[in-house]
Amino acid sequence: MTLKQKQYINGEWVDAKSGKTRDIINPYNQEVVATVPEGDETDAQAAIAAAREAFDQGDWATMPATERGKIVREIADFIERDREELARLESLDTGKTVEESRGDMDDIAGVFHYYAEIADKNGGEIIESPLPNSISKVVHEPVGVCGQITPWNYPLLQASWKLAPALVAGNTLIMKPSEITPLTTLKTFELMEEAGVPKGVVNLILGAGHDAGAELSTNHDVDLISFTGGIVTGKKIMQAASTNAKNLALELGGKNPNVIFADADFELAVDQALNGVFFHAGQICSAGTRLIVEESIHDDLVEALVERVKQFKLGSGFDENTQMGPLISAEHLAKVEKYVETGIKEGATLAVGGSRPDDPELQDGFFYLPTIFTDCTTDMEIVQEEAFGPIITVEKFTREEEAVQLANDSIYGLAGGVFTNDVAKAERCAAKMRMGTVWINEFNVYFPHAPWGGYKQSGIGRELGKLGLEEYTETKHILQNTKPEPLNWF
Ligand code: NAD
Repeated sequence: MTLKQKQYINGEWVDAKSGKTRDIINPYNQEVVATVPEGDETDAQAAIAAAREAFDQGDWATMPATERGKIVREIADFIERDREELARLESLDTGKTVEESRGDMDDIAGVFHYYAEIADKNGGEIIESPLPNSISKVVHEPVGVCGQITPWNYPLLQASWKLAPALVAGNTLIMKPSEITPLTTLKTFELMEEAGVPKGVVNLILGAGHDAGAELSTNHDVDLISFTGGIVTGKKIMQAASTNAKNLALELGGKNPNVIFADADFELAVDQALNGVFFHAGQICSAGTRLIVEESIHDDLVEALVERVKQFKLGSGFDENTQMGPLISAEHLAKVEKYVETGIKEGATLAVGGSRPDDPELQDGFFYLPTIFTDCTTDMEIVQEEAFGPIITVEKFTREEEAVQLANDSIYGLAGGVFTNDVAKAERCAAKMRMGTVWINEFNVYFPHAPWGGYKQSGIGRELGKLGLEEYTETKHILQNTKPEPLNWF
């Protein structure tokens, strides 16, 4: 592998100050695919100091936005150029199929292109001033030094949603990817160096969340912390960020409902119910894990899903016949197994799956069979908590209001879907569903132009779209008196 297996701080590729390292393993067979520095808070402090200096002393924040846009466009071009290498690295690191990873790389290049395109479209405006002889201007400026922390499920995709807008807005940053999936982020830092991002503007630290990551949310030289990950960590970060009231953006978990009415196109609903959950073995924040099905089609739908699920091909992400890869780690597999045990104890009925596969070829990987529970109710843990694995729970409804009420019965509010051929009904449901994204006769579709984020405990703020750029800006009002005169009040 030609990949630099180092941290990137102040324009230099460096080991951890402690000299510690961490092996990165392939979840398909547990082979070590790379060994990277295991940074801690001292590495984070060095990276924060570099980003602070680059922001305060450098010209990145003040150069014309079009110039930054050019560099970000070049990063997008390099991602397209190295698409295959990046996709393979992502699959090696996460176990997902290369086909899925190729799709991710296209989306990621799209994100960099989109923000490069709108880099100079956030320049500000003259507003009408109620005062005579005055000019009132609203301008947008970078927030400053940004800490960015990403999860393991979509390592580079989540990173791109943070890197591209932060850069075009003129911020400097320190990124900490998940300690178990740093490879594509590492590669992208090589590409950012190649594209000419100035020294100190982008810094990469590697290592565990509780030290390398925690420093980013506690350190007072960081002006904004943007975090994507689980709700428990998100709440810790929110608390730590409060000590200097830093700007905060949180993209947390989801337990997303997928409401299927009897008048939906049956084949489409079956297909999308499967797509909605089983991509990347269910390790998707927006996975439609809670199927909410109209009673009259419940049995037929479950039967069709079970039939399809039994035919899934599990295996290596590098085998073109594989439909579903392994879970990310032994620890995560144990967590998923525990949720299934809980579901059984709670009285849900296991319709299919519920164990590891017995295929001898899959024993070295962290595989789990696609699993469907029926007879589920909203008071069950298996319905309420994010298992983040290949598990669907099925609940029944008879009335539209009941479907919406079940869909909203969650601490989360990330995304949801409605399947029906009645447009008015779909729109009524979409209006009442308390989520950041609602899909109608669709699932799990997103693109750079549309904002992404959660209601309720799924997060704070939005990524992607213009709002995703606004997260990385401060807004300033400049009022100029063109004919100043003393007030003579005092
Ligand atoms: P996680 O919360 O365990 O870890 C996420 C990141 O936080 C990692 O880089 C980790 O090292 C770091 N971290 C851990 N403890 C920390 C601390 N105390 N201070 C600072 N950083 C710390 O999450 P995960 O298991 O990597 O990812 C899965 C979660 O991410 C799921 O809940 C999923 O729903 C969520 N997610 C949400 C979105 C979204 O767009 N809303 C997208 C992808 C994933």
